[in-house]
Order: sequence, then C-alpha cells, then structure tokens
Amino acid sequence: MNEFALIDLIQSTCALHRPDVRIGIGDDAAAIDVPEGHELLICTDTLVAGRHFPINSRAEDIGWKSLAVNLSDLAAMGGTPAFALLALCLPDPDEAWVRAFARGFSELASRHNVALIGGDTTRGPLTITVTALGFAPRGMALRRGGAKVGDVIVVTGALGAAAAGLHYLGLRPECGRAYRLDPNRFDHQCVSALDRPVPQIAQGIALRDYASSAIDISDGLAADLGHVLRLSDTGADIELGLLPGWQALCEVLAVEQATRLVLSGGDDYVLLATVPPNRLQAAELAVKSTGAVLCAIGHVSAEPGLRIRDLQGNLIHIEKAGWDHFA
Ligand code: ADP
Ligand code: MG
Repeated sequence: MNEFALIDLIQSTCALHRPDVRIGIGDDAAAIDVPEGHELLICTDTLVAGRHFPINSRAEDIGWKSLAVNLSDLAAMGGTPAFALLALCLPDPDEAWVRAFARGFSELASRHNVALIGGDTTRGPLTITVTALGFAPRGMALRRGGAKVGDVIVVTGALGAAAAGLHYLGLRPECGRAYRLDPNRFDHQCVSALDRPVPQIAQGIALRDYASSAIDISDGLAADLGHVLRLSDTGADIELGLLPGWQALCEVLAVEQATRLVLSGGDDYVLLATVPPNRLQAAELAVKSTGAVLCAIGHVSAEPGLRIRDLQGNLIHIEKAGWDHFA
C-alpha cells in the first residue's frame, strides 16, 4: 500500500460528515466553522508503541485509545469534541492493521460525532499523534488553576483499574487480548479499562457550571491533583477509603499494591474536579444525569502539599507521584 492508498483507507473508514467542516481531508489544511459565542479548544497527545501501550495491543484498541486520551483532555476542559487530526508513523504499511486501527478510532469518533479532518502519514517506529478540537461557550472552559480552600475534591469514576489491567497482562502476557473475553471477570474489566478508556465528555460538560477547576487523571491521582494544587496555590487532604476503586482492588491485591495503583497507577482517564461546597449537590445531580456518580474524596486546604490518610487516619507516604517521561 502506498501513502495515498493508506490515507484513502483511513478516510473511508472514518467517514463522518459534519456541516461545520468547510474543507476536510484532501487539501493542505482543513477549514472549520466555530459556532457563535464559543471558543475552540485544541489539544494533542502522542502514543508511542511499548511506552503508552503494550507492543502486542490490538490495532482496534490502539485506534480507540489514541483518540480517547485526547477526548479526555477536551472533557477535562468541559469541551464538546468536534474534530480530530491523525498523524500516523508506521513501520510497515500493513493494510489489515491500518483498517483495524481506523475501525477502533472511528468507533469512538462516531460516538462523539467527531470528524477526522486531516493528518499526516509517515514511515518510522509505530507512533500515533492525535490532535482533537472541540468547543466550549466563551470563557466557560474549565481550567487546572482555580481551586479554592474549602472546595470539595471529586472524581467521576473508579481509579486504578487500568493500572491493574497492566499488572494482569504482566502476570500472563501469553493471554494477551483473551483477557477481554469475559466481562464478568474483574481482571478482564481491568484490561478493558486499560485498552478502551472512556472519555468523560458528558461529565466534563456537566461539571462546567459548578467546578472551580478540573483535570483528567492520566498520570495518576497524586500527580494530576498535584498539578491542580500547584496552579491554584493550595494544598489538599484526601482519604484513601473514599477513593472509588480502592476497595475492589484491595479484595484481589495486597493493600499496598492497591493503594499504589489508585494513587499513581495512571491511565485512569476519569475527571478530577474541585467544587465549592454550596454547589456540590447541584454538581452531583448534574453528573448523575449523565449516568455517572460523582465521588467526594477530600477537600482543598490552605496548607501546601497533598496529604493522603488511610482508614486509621495515618498519613500515607507516596514514593513515585506519577509518570515523568524524562525522569
Ligand atoms: P502535505 O504533503 O501537503 O502535507 P499530505 O499528502 O501529507 O499533504 O496529505 C494529504 C491530505 O491527507 C491532507 O489533507 C492531510 O490532512 C490528509 N492526511 C494525511 N494523512 C492522514 C491521516 N493519517 N489521517 C487523516 N488525514 C490524513
Ligand atoms: Mg504531509
């Protein structure tokens, strides 16, 4: 397959029409309309084989995840996704692989009405860069700075499952994707969380009217909450026993390991937000209407730093706060 046949294949697999795409794939740049009273949110994220996903991951899952991690960034800002660009660096132009990749990408894109409007196709080590674009009403995008002392810290879903999935794959690498075949099994659910993260788009939009700050948890709760605290000039106190997902992991793993996975495992792609106490109930209702549950896990404090307490009220020491590519 040559470069242009590959682009055609991707384009035909990801064919979603939106009237606000003035110029899509085929020209030197795309052109889009931005709705009146809105601003354009733009983000990009790269996935490198062997670093962001196991080498033997299914092409469909890589396609899904490469878009999901970007839509998660839009979700954290309270954005509505609309468009994406895809820069693919492939070792070999394997038609079956590209077709499956595009199918996974397209499956998630169509759920959120995201049109693929351009990209780039090159040869090299398998690397996928997606750029996602979305809209928010002008001035309404959620940001990492903005948390105030006394705000309640909330998350929109369970933590640690994806990191546990990676743990299970490490235990039995020969099982690979067979791990996903039984949705009733906990280990299979964890591998699914790793392969197919679900961006919290509706939850981000629901939080837009209530949250003082938000971030998506990609590098682990401790690291990502740390970003919010630094940009907000505040500290925080959270309780391990309140973290959704921790109890379930404690039933199958050692408590220390379960604790490490929920605090710094990463790849969670749920949202963390801070909400003033007088808006908490309204925020809970808004998130409930999306089918998710908002869980309060602690509060923002004046004392700098992040303190995490176990069930006895003792402080937990976190060794590795999160992922740093250059550490
Ligand atoms: P140029 O050489 O001017 O950069 P290309 O030949 O790379 O243009 O791309 C041709 C068209 O195909 C452009 O509209 C580009 O956005 C689109 N395109 C290239 N690769 C991809 C891809 N992987 N996914 C989606 N669109 C792509
Ligand atoms: Mg090009």
